[in-house]
Amino acid sequence: MDHSWKQIKQIIFDADDTLWENNIYYVQATTDFLNLIETGGFNRSDIQKAFDDLELEVVKERGYGSHNFVYILEELFTRYKKESTVPLDEEQFRFITKRFKDHPTSIPQLFPGVIETLRYLKTKYRLYVLTKGEYKEQQGKILRAGVHECVQEYFILPEKNDAAYRKLIEEHNWQAHETCMVGNSPKSDINPALRQGMFAIHIPYRDTWKLDDEPIEVRDGRFMELESFEALRTVF
Ligand SMILES: [Mg+2]
Repeated sequence: MDHSWKQIKQIIFDADDTLWENNIYYVQATTDFLNLIETGGFNRSDIQKAFDDLELEVVKERGYGSHNFVYILEELFTRYKKESTVPLDEEQFRFITKRFKDHPTSIPQLFPGVIETLRYLKTKYRLYVLTKGEYKEQQGKILRAGVHECVQEYFILPEKNDAAYRKLIEEHNWQAHETCMVGNSPKSDINPALRQGMFAIHIPYRDTWKLDDEPIEVRDGRFMELESFEALRTVF
């Protein structure tokens, strides 16, 4: 390992799909929803396209979070219900949204060894969580997962872009080259952190949300890819 990794003093962790499962609930609800609308005689790729278009719009105007996702499903269901020649199963629709709505209030499904790894790292580094989304929802997950007890502080922002990272570093008087970001999203975690001069560790998730995905721009000495969260112990 490059000697400079030894200078790291603080490690910042993404939360969704890095500490715990998140996107699978969205994928499951989307798949169920597409199946349901298809029964109305609509073309699956057309429904998917309508979903993608509305999702882009909603994320831009309202931000992230499960409420906005449910809003998309409801909007589309109303739209397709009007156009459908056969009645769409409303009960099935309510089942899909209810099951999805129940997930943010349950205990997050942490990946193997997350708490143990954080406790270990805490003895050597200052740890933080940086997540984007709806404040109450993200805070609830952090608290229920018990992650707040393993870190100094957690930050919940509407967006994780260059400006957000810059501000975080400045406000805490951190040195970028002493700071490492860990996450599953190239777009929200890895690329903006690398652009600020930080170190970055990518832990790929099998189903990263497409709006969070993009190619990793720089794979130099400040970048590393790991297979699992637990593998952080082999680095630090
Ligand atoms: Mg994530």
